[in-house]
Amino acid sequence: DLTYTGKYIPLSREELIQKLDDALTQSRFEHVLRVEQMAFELAKQNGEDVEKASVAGLCHDYAKQRPDDDFLDVIKKYHLDDLLLHYGNAIWHGEVGYLLVQDELGVTDIDILNSIKHHTTGAKYMSKLEQIVYMADYIEMGRDFPGVEEARKITFNDLADGVAYQTKHTLEFLISENKPVYPKTIDTYNAWVNGSN
Ligand code: GDP
Ligand code: FE
Ligand code: FE
Ligand code: FE
Repeated sequence: DLTYTGKYIPLSREELIQKLDDALTQSRFEHVLRVEQMAFELAKQNGEDVEKASVAGLCHDYAKQRPDDDFLDVIKKYHLDDLLLHYGNAIWHGEVGYLLVQDELGVTDIDILNSIKHHTTGAKYMSKLEQIVYMADYIEMGRDFPGVEEARKITFNDLADGVAYQTKHTLEFLISENKPVYPKTIDTYNAWVNGSN
């Protein structure tokens, strides 16, 4: 197992895992372990720092089970965009939750924080680590939606092609379900799928 150097989080991997076990349900806890594993594989393949990938993969859903009031407090405390008030946990646990990872777990690395912030919606510009976390969340070995095998194949062939695949399929899903589309999700589509801006 990976031994943390202290560069990215002031905890050992074992201490971080204990905090995640406390913060999450058993099934969500097992998901974050699988995302860590997949992020680790994608990091090795793409020449990214495996310790950063491990920390980001483990922390990406840290805030997933927090009550709405915790997110509303952070939105107020940090004067975040009022647009967020029209959404809920699906958007908040990343877009707002990264600040709880910063404040409660002590992560200061901006690339790790951005990869948590953007793991649900993607973003117009995504670093290699951001792409890795976005994809690892989608293709971890517990996922079994139709198309996941193709998504895995595409992603291990070319990370950015995987980003485009997920972005297109998620937007199709949101539209088919009449769900509100967060503007950043559309920015991701325009940058990574349409590629014209
Ligand atoms: P999880 O936290 O591991 O379950 O996965 P994600 O963080 O990637 O996604 C959480 C939920 O957000 C999923 O159900 C997505 O379909 C949903 N989601 C992604 N983009 C948007 C969006 O733009 N608007 C809304 N309303 N939901 C979204
Ligand atoms: Fe998530
Ligand atoms: Fe995701
Ligand atoms: Fe997740």
